[in-house]
Amino acid sequence: MTRPPAILRFAPSPNGRLHLGHAFSALLNVRFAEHLGGVCRLRIEDIDPVRSKPHLTEAILADLTWLGLDYPRPIRHQSRHMDEYRSALARLVALGLAYPCFCSRADIRSRATAFDPDGAPLYPGTCRHRDPREAAARRERGDPHTWRLSMAHALPRAREERALGYIAFGDEGESWVPVDPAPWGDAVIARRDVPTSYHLSVVHDDAVEGVTHVVRGADLEAATAIHVLLQRLLGLPTPRYHHHRLIQDADGRKLAKSRGSTSLAELRAAGIGAAEIRLWCREV
Ligand code: GLU
Repeated sequence: MTRPPAILRFAPSPNGRLHLGHAFSALLNVRFAEHLGGVCRLRIEDIDPVRSKPHLTEAILADLTWLGLDYPRPIRHQSRHMDEYRSALARLVALGLAYPCFCSRADIRSRATAFDPDGAPLYPGTCRHRDPREAAARRERGDPHTWRLSMAHALPRAREERALGYIAFGDEGESWVPVDPAPWGDAVIARRDVPTSYHLSVVHDDAVEGVTHVVRGADLEAATAIHVLLQRLLGLPTPRYHHHRLIQDADGRKLAKSRGSTSLAELRAAGIGAAEIRLWCREV
């Protein structure tokens, strides 16, 4: 059986300028794409209506062009595909695998007794057993709500066929990685403001774009457990994954927009050339 051509993707969120960590990830994606004889696509992950800014999308495109990276068109912008995510959510709801949750962050914080793999308060399950008629009435009334995956229902269904896991790939070859999504609890699959979440849109898009190999930072490795679960529930293929190490700042912390790490634009303004950055990212 011949394998389909490799398709990779670099998927930044336009809520800040790109920094060296993004350059490293984008260039590594291209390197793997070349090695596999495939292509790397660009996806703009802009589902967050508040934090995503059109001028930052423009800036990302300009930074990547400056770095010498060119992507096949069209570029997928997640904000233009809300109907698709709404349908994916509706499928999970119809399967009895998702329920509306009316809890505020403060409600959850005050009741949580554990943390999820990201270090956020683990959802204590408050709305899990709510009377469906009451929940429907509240939704009708326009009460803000998220949608949560019912882990208790999702896990047995997903594991019915076979164990959950994915194939990890890298320079040393491939290996099977079993995953356990349970520590995430009833994760949010649709936020209050949009009919999706990072988890739901990323698995949908990877499938729609035919992504065969995902190359992304180690900070998303734990989330892959939820992604594999959603893929199984929605009947989508699971790509191969490579979680790369994170580029750190001088204090040994990972680079982050939120901490104001030096952006590629600032490096460029300081006279550093794209070739230098490409070389640094190869050798770091
Ligand atoms: N949009 C995510 C980010 O900027 C990356 C998602 C992914 O690669 O799965 O962190």
